[in-house]
Amino acid sequence: MTTPAERLRDLGHRLVERLADHLEHAAAGELPVLAPADPARLADLLGDLPVEPPTDPGVCLDELVDRVLEHSNHVHHPGYVGHQVSPPLPEAAVVELMVALLNNGMAIYEMGQLQTVTEERLVAWLCERVGFGAASGGVLCHGGSLGNLTALLAARQAQLGGQVWSAGHGEAPAVLVSSQAHYCIARAAGVMGWGSEGAVPVATGADFRMDPADLPRALERARAAGRRPIAVVASSCTTATGSFDPLPTIADFARDHGLWLHVDGAHGASQVLSERHRAPLAGIERADSIVWDLHKLAGLPALSSAVLFRDVRHSAGAFAQDAAYLFDGDEPTELSHDLGRRTLECTKRAMGLVAWSCLQLVGTRAFVERIDRQVDLAGELHGLVVAAADFEAASVPASNILCFRHRPTSIEPGPELDRHQARLRRAVVDAGAYYLVQAELDGEAWLRVSLMNPATTRGELEGLLGELRRVAG
Ligand SMILES: *Cc1c(COP(=O)(O)O)cnc(C)c1O
Repeated sequence: MTTPAERLRDLGHRLVERLADHLEHAAAGELPVLAPADPARLADLLGDLPVEPPTDPGVCLDELVDRVLEHSNHVHHPGYVGHQVSPPLPEAAVVELMVALLNNGMAIYEMGQLQTVTEERLVAWLCERVGFGAASGGVLCHGGSLGNLTALLAARQAQLGGQVWSAGHGEAPAVLVSSQAHYCIARAAGVMGWGSEGAVPVATGADFRMDPADLPRALERARAAGRRPIAVVASSCTTATGSFDPLPTIADFARDHGLWLHVDGAHGASQVLSERHRAPLAGIERADSIVWDLHKLAGLPALSSAVLFRDVRHSAGAFAQDAAYLFDGDEPTELSHDLGRRTLECTKRAMGLVAWSCLQLVGTRAFVERIDRQVDLAGELHGLVVAAADFEAASVPASNILCFRHRPTSIEPGPELDRHQARLRRAVVDAGAYYLVQAELDGEAWLRVSLMNPATTRGELEGLLGELRRVAG
């Protein structure tokens, strides 16, 4: 019988060899981005591997890895232009292996000392990048959806007081949020028991950005419906089109009406790292809370989301039964290093260690260059689309996301043009050279790309348009 150390050595070497080969093939585009298979068929394809876990060892690592690779969506393929999922750095993958083996979860400081301190350092660095001052801080959690819920729990605590925990809501709270916001905001309102009216939609204007002129009307609508609005949520940027809500105007409105300002920067907050592409985030330092996913534009593996607070005491307030003591006196409260007090999760992965290690190993410049490059690439695709007579863009990109559609002269906007986009997407994805997705904007179907992959070049973008024309026939 081999020892665990021997098994790790043997399996680890074999796995790394296999994955490195895979990375070469994927980056060279030598396999389909995705080999689509519906779940029933995929189960058949796995037929010789028993569905029920075997009593005794059933399969060797190489066989297992081959199956997994064959049926995965290959985000390192230059034709991968789909959802906002990054092709992670190899550094991140190997650090993840270490994190899994050490398994120092971090609810309790002693169960993850260095893991906690590196998370705290990372969070402090992120706070500095968004322009927060010395009183700021926050925590990492498993994903932007959970991060947005956490920030809104803190907003609720700050606006309504701690008795919500013990007594529930006396009045029905609400947040004002653009109609283009990620669905997790409405879901957070639902989770908190505010009902589906708890997320009050604010209209969007040009380029799908929040129209601040609709904010006072949304506030009135909420109040007229018997609601107590507690926060405005700005999207920086939106998921569908990468549009940035106008932060300075929204911040003025929140200040004038005593509302909490939360910025959902899950995707776009990474652009604060870029000199060239941070302009749409001007004013972000006025937020009370910000969510920033490191696993999107920053290129780290899922999941790693920062919830940042301009005043770190609100980070402790999110899950506190009684948070009032935190705000006694003028001295900043020394918060516990048991980070589990500030997250919905108890045990959590040492995601801060992964991000912090990658920054140590690679340096910040590579991150900045990657962000610059990917946002520039969306601009190039926009240029190609606008120059083409048979394509049109939904908006001018401010991030690395673009929605566009194929527009043959024979089809007017409407259900037929919508079906045309769906058909083109299906055919392109089935052909295997590209993976793109679809978005619904104002009830119409658009093709959507997120340019996450540094291996994707202008050549692939031209190829993608060519491929769409080819399948359009
Ligand atoms: C992706 C995204 C989310 C959800 O984040 P997850 O990490 O996938 O949970 C929330 N808001 C916006 C704007 C996003 O783009």
